[in-house]
Amino acid sequence: MSKKISLLLCMTLVLAMILPACTPAGDTTEAPLVITDTELNVLCTPQEEWCQGMKQEFEALYGITVNYVRMSSGEALARIVAEKDAPTFDIWWGGPIDSFVSAKGQGLLETYDSPNYVNIRDPKLMKDVDNQWVGVYVGSLGFATNTNWLAAHPDVQAPTSWDDLLKPEFTGQVMVAHPSSSGTSYTALCTNLQIRGEEAGWEYLKKYAAQMASFTKSGAAPAKFVGQGEAAVAIVFSHDTVNEIENNQMPLKLTFPAEGTGYEIGGEAILKGAKNMQAAKLWFDWAISPEGQALGPKYHAYQAPTVNGVELSHPELMEANLIDYNFIWCGENKAAFVDKFTNEIANAENLKQ
Ligand code: PLP
Repeated sequence: MSKKISLLLCMTLVLAMILPACTPAGDTTEAPLVITDTELNVLCTPQEEWCQGMKQEFEALYGITVNYVRMSSGEALARIVAEKDAPTFDIWWGGPIDSFVSAKGQGLLETYDSPNYVNIRDPKLMKDVDNQWVGVYVGSLGFATNTNWLAAHPDVQAPTSWDDLLKPEFTGQVMVAHPSSSGTSYTALCTNLQIRGEEAGWEYLKKYAAQMASFTKSGAAPAKFVGQGEAAVAIVFSHDTVNEIENNQMPLKLTFPAEGTGYEIGGEAILKGAKNMQAAKLWFDWAISPEGQALGPKYHAYQAPTVNGVELSHPELMEANLIDYNFIWCGENKAAFVDKFTNEIANAENLKQ
């Protein structure tokens, strides 16, 4: 029997027999929902492969058709703002929570008290105090250096500090996404403002921007381009580097800035005015269940989970020296900091795709 037929049965047969099949993942305490939505529109910010995998898993589990569009964080936020009064999407899944904090500040997110918040490892850090967003994964920022380039430059070491990126040997050899489109790049920007303080941080960012071969649109793309030899060093989330090394056999070496690196909590939130609210809640709950989060590595997503009961696929990525990243400060200042970077340091024209 197809999942769609099972779902219809859930809505029509005797409650006691069928309702458990419609119960959100991991929810054993609340009265079960009767789901009447038949589709869900997801704004998906992580890598395409994971978006596609989660769509298929959710459809197989709940018999609800998932339509998704993959967009980087900055594009996603701009789209949500533009569609404020008539949202296309029901739920936004993935991408650093700085953008979710910014969206919350603009009144774009729905409040939802998920029964699965009990699963969250560190609710103080990983969940909005007003229940408007929650963390669905964690990832640390690192450097990916092309090992063929290192072999051709035997006097040069892979960078192990943010200052190393400013060395003359890396001029025109570094690649990062642009913070206007990419949450990854915004994490790097806000990391440096926090490590150095704002004044010295902006001075550093001017020199850092001058080292770039080019800026890309998507956060993970520099690892691919550097793996292909288009530049020497990429600034990307460390799990993206692992993906390129393990699954695409890219010649990359992963290093971390010793003085401290930023990290992301990837978020999710239901959008205000969502048309498929029940299905959106079902996805929201499932994405913070151990079953939902255990699926990451199957789709080459090596971020750390935010829920208890799931093993880390790559615990070493969380052993870097992580700064005490202030997601609220970075989120609340996101528009201003991105504007400053774009207007005063490097514009967002001709981003590499
Ligand atoms: N892809 C992966 C694998 C990520 O970990 C993240 C971060 O959340 C993103 C994409 C976010 O994309 P972007 O930096 O393009 O906003």
